[in-house]
Amino acid sequence: MKKLMTCFTVASLLALSACQTSPTGRTQLLLVSDNDMDKMGAASFTDLKAKSKLSTDKAAINYIRCISTPLLKAANENPAAWEIQVFEDDSPNAFALPGRKIGVHTGMIKTAQNPEQLAAVIGHEIGHVQARHGAERVSLNMASQTAQQVVAVAVDGTEYAGATMAAIGVGAQYGMILPYSRTHESEADYVGLKIMARAGFDPQQSVELWRNMAKSGGGKSPEFMSTHPSDNTRIKALTKQMGEANTIYRQAKAQGLHPNCRKP
Ligand SMILES: [Zn+2]
Repeated sequence: MKKLMTCFTVASLLALSACQTSPTGRTQLLLVSDNDMDKMGAASFTDLKAKSKLSTDKAAINYIRCISTPLLKAANENPAAWEIQVFEDDSPNAFALPGRKIGVHTGMIKTAQNPEQLAAVIGHEIGHVQARHGAERVSLNMASQTAQQVVAVAVDGTEYAGATMAAIGVGAQYGMILPYSRTHESEADYVGLKIMARAGFDPQQSVELWRNMAKSGGGKSPEFMSTHPSDNTRIKALTKQMGEANTIYRQAKAQGLHPNCRKP
């Protein structure tokens, strides 16, 4: 209820009706259109590709395609509309951008011990895109800047100006934006868990992946960094959701869904 109020309050402040619902039923403030976000995401991805080294390893590229195609189908997406690239980078990481772009580091392919663990990573990234986390991040930044400007005008010249601005600055940084980012990570985990199960990948391997990441120190890499829930929090949440995921997984297997991808 509190989040709902915040969203509608901010939206009415900006004279916009921009509250939508995420795949898990969470109210989101979205001030940017999908079309604009897709353009921004595509431009960033092009930039990133120009500045980074893309892998030309056919086995790695085929492995990623073998895993991502059934995942995208299970997520009701058209695999042909997505671009998934392998980046030459030893850090165990992956990332997603609006506009259906996903990057997987060669280090992530190495760290994920089997196709199921990599499916957990790619499912998580599909989750970020489907849940419009990029647009929400941009919207929150816009809203927090606007709120600061509105209050700056209101309190400007009063003796409280300094203290009020400091309080709002701190609130924007720690109160509003960071918890949302942690929420994004948990939401992407949950959406990804169901996608991997629906595609016929054993969902239990998502937990193994996080154990594995904690061991290798991969949790300190950028996408999974600072704002992410700790590996333990993550494992606890996934374990709680495993009953639901296993039911989906059993149904997928009964339908003959069992992707056969071999780690190169
Ligand atoms: Zn993430």
